[in-house]
Amino acid sequence: MIERFADLQLLRYEVTGFEGLTLRQKLLVYYLAEAALLGRDILWDQNCQYGLEIRKTLEDIYTSYDGPKDNPDWQAFVVYLKRVWFSNGIHHHYSCQKFQPEFSKEWFCERLRTTDNGQQTILDLIFNPNVMPKRVNQADGEDLLLTSSCNYYAEGISQAEAEAFYADMKSKVDSDRPPMLGLNSRLERKEDGSLYENVWKSGGLYGKAIDRICEILGKARRYAENDKQKAVIDKLVEFYRTGNLKTFDEYAILWVNETESEVDFTNGFTEVYGDPLGLKASWEGYVNIIDHKATLRAKALSDNAGWFEEHSPVDERFKKKACKGVSAKVISAAMLGGDLYPSSAIGINLPNSDWIRAEYGSKSVTIANLTRAYNLAAKGSGMREEFVIDDETRALLDKYGDVCDDLHTDLHECLGHGSGQLLPGVDADALRAYGSTIEEARADLFGLYYIADLKLVELGLTPNEEAYKSQYYSYLMNGLLTQMVRIEEGHQIEEAHMRNRALISRWTLKNYPEAVQIVEVNGKHFVKVFDYNLLRKAFGELLAEVQRIKSEGDYEAARQLVEEYGIKIDAELHHEIRERYKKLDLAPYKGFINPRYELVRDGEGNITDVLVKYGEAYDEQMLRYSHEYKTL
Ligand code: ZN
Repeated sequence: MIERFADLQLLRYEVTGFEGLTLRQKLLVYYLAEAALLGRDILWDQNCQYGLEIRKTLEDIYTSYDGPKDNPDWQAFVVYLKRVWFSNGIHHHYSCQKFQPEFSKEWFCERLRTTDNGQQTILDLIFNPNVMPKRVNQADGEDLLLTSSCNYYAEGISQAEAEAFYADMKSKVDSDRPPMLGLNSRLERKEDGSLYENVWKSGGLYGKAIDRICEILGKARRYAENDKQKAVIDKLVEFYRTGNLKTFDEYAILWVNETESEVDFTNGFTEVYGDPLGLKASWEGYVNIIDHKATLRAKALSDNAGWFEEHSPVDERFKKKACKGVSAKVISAAMLGGDLYPSSAIGINLPNSDWIRAEYGSKSVTIANLTRAYNLAAKGSGMREEFVIDDETRALLDKYGDVCDDLHTDLHECLGHGSGQLLPGVDADALRAYGSTIEEARADLFGLYYIADLKLVELGLTPNEEAYKSQYYSYLMNGLLTQMVRIEEGHQIEEAHMRNRALISRWTLKNYPEAVQIVEVNGKHFVKVFDYNLLRKAFGELLAEVQRIKSEGDYEAARQLVEEYGIKIDAELHHEIRERYKKLDLAPYKGFINPRYELVRDGEGNITDVLVKYGEAYDEQMLRYSHEYKTL
């Protein structure tokens, strides 16, 4: 094990396929990887307006400390800093709650004297639990902006004001191909009280970081694999320079159509989970290399996308007519940056613009080398022994679990998110704060419904008609029981993917007791499945409803579904699950230490190779990033 603290564990991933690249491709990876690291400070500032200042203060203390290492305050401080690094800020990366330090304020103030940043704001932020308690608050009925401390809206701007601002802006867009308004800016207030967007672009907010990214992208361009990829980079740089969201859409279209390269990347303002209103995108970057063999599997799905759409249980009106290609790839991550570091997704489907997806399709990736690292870490963890109901089910999971997990991710990313369509005139943001959860539920349900389909056996993707049962069991076990280990007692479910899993599992539990129940055996609760066939019917029914909600933009139905099934937690069951989990002594969250690339030069200074190295320690990497990729 590399590094383990609090509820976190760090893993390494191997960049499968790197050695087989040409020197030119390796150089492309090298420069794109640099660009993926240069937006780190943007994310820190997006997460909290004091994030960079706090990071500097904590790192100064860390590097200048020369007291005894067995001092409990020092040890607690080290854990705190490692958690802050992991979360790119002072709030938990998943629950969004502010960390509570376990070192004393007196000890900390003592240390502050040896650095330059002895400020009251920082003390309040670290020690006062009432100051900025939550990065993203999703509680129904509260003002989501005034109660969230993320930095996408200037202090004092209320949810109603921001919603009115964007409703007005939207009403002035006369196009059925609307840009994603609000995506790349911070909403601020002028002196006269009116609101305006401070745009993230060259010469604008985050301009210094963006200029460095553009400079390195220019270097990467020299090693692009083809003209299409060059055009992608050029358009991205144009977007970074202008901040024009129409240019961003042009870039997204070029990017989604560029499917020939072995090395691919994303770099920019991408996902909106960090904004309680789901408009503003956090910065992320990653670089990847295609895994040819595994890609054949994903391709089997995307080649049949039309068949899946046609046979899905949703209403004909909500189905995508001409199924626009999803290009599905299995990849190896070569570098993770911004909001994908150190905690990363294992599947990604982009772009996010609904109309671009409908007209041009999307690129879907399953990141195999990260999944491999997770699976390796999970082997022998004791989870299945503790939480799976009986030996028979355990055998099912041991036999088919890995295959079906990968397949469900493929189905979710390369078919689920790409399926369906909005009815004409329906606003893509109609579901507002519930939009992300509903969208994830849609993709998961599509995967759950189809993983049991004979078509997959026919395509050679599942070994037989029984393999899918492993996915049904592990999905429900996770959604009903084990995902709760990640949540502190007394708290509710906040994160969109977790809400989605709870929603699907509990809706099924409530409406199909003939198919699944939670049963008690010797004082412990387990998921017991009575009828796998019936489960498939349940998932199909819920898929049809969730698709209807999305297609019609039925906000009220989305609210009810998410509020009833996706959020609240039974305190007693929660306690039991946490206690059982604690005994296993595992870390519920995992993240990755990046590899490091090094240029090799000959006597004349020509680059002859690029090496990938894995040995860097967690703190070493974090401190190096803060130094070498400091842009703001
Ligand atoms: Zn998803």
